[in-house]
Amino acid sequence: MWLNCDGYKIRRKEPRVISTAPVVLIQVRHSRACAHKDDANYRRCNCWKHLVWHYHGKRYQVATKSRTCAGAEKRKREVELEYEQKDNSPIEVPTVANAVQSFLAAKRGENVTKNPYGKYRRELAEFVAFCERRRLFFVNDATLPDLAEYSLSRGEHCPSSQTRQAMQGRLRGFFRYLQEAGYIHKSPAARLKAIKTEETPVVSLTEEQYNSLLATIPEANQSAASMSVDAFNAAH
Ligand SMILES: [Zn+2]
Repeated sequence: MWLNCDGYKIRRKEPRVISTAPVVLIQVRHSRACAHKDDANYRRCNCWKHLVWHYHGKRYQVATKSRTCAGAEKRKREVELEYEQKDNSPIEVPTVANAVQSFLAAKRGENVTKNPYGKYRRELAEFVAFCERRRLFFVNDATLPDLAEYSLSRGEHCPSSQTRQAMQGRLRGFFRYLQEAGYIHKSPAARLKAIKTEETPVVSLTEEQYNSLLATIPEANQSAASMSVDAFNAAH
């Protein structure tokens, strides 16, 4: 059943469905000795290759038992073929309101300290209301321009660029979940223009930092430097 944010049923002639054949990706698990260990996308080394894909909301990861790209590609084609031969009954695309409910349930279940559940809940309630005003009922209705406009409208109520950045991060988290669940193929939120933080970070020195800073200055200038550091600390 599809519900909007006020709990009213949404009537729709045909349910929206999408194909469920997964996109299989090759991943490299670099060894500690590998010269490319910091580049997760580098594949031409001699490290073990794995396959990763999502199917009906579940993440799969298997070893290809191969160290070469050719070997990994061969295994990838085998996995894709297995899915093509399956009866791929398409899955129903949820409404934004219903998807938010299931995302929040998953968030609440995450046993992480400082899980920002409340912040997600407030942000996504705003997003559901925005989508419904725009008649974007289903999760694959929302496009990049919609999200950009939403981001802008939220920004008008929030002067801090750091808070705006955090809000955008939560929206990205929601769309990443939709992608992993197989409801959308690409996340429009991934291409949202990043918000730059304009605020200058406030620096405040500990006593130890203060003393070591003074120690780097020639003795003759120390009292002047000490005065300006004191003035800086007093101003913040
Ligand atoms: Zn490697």
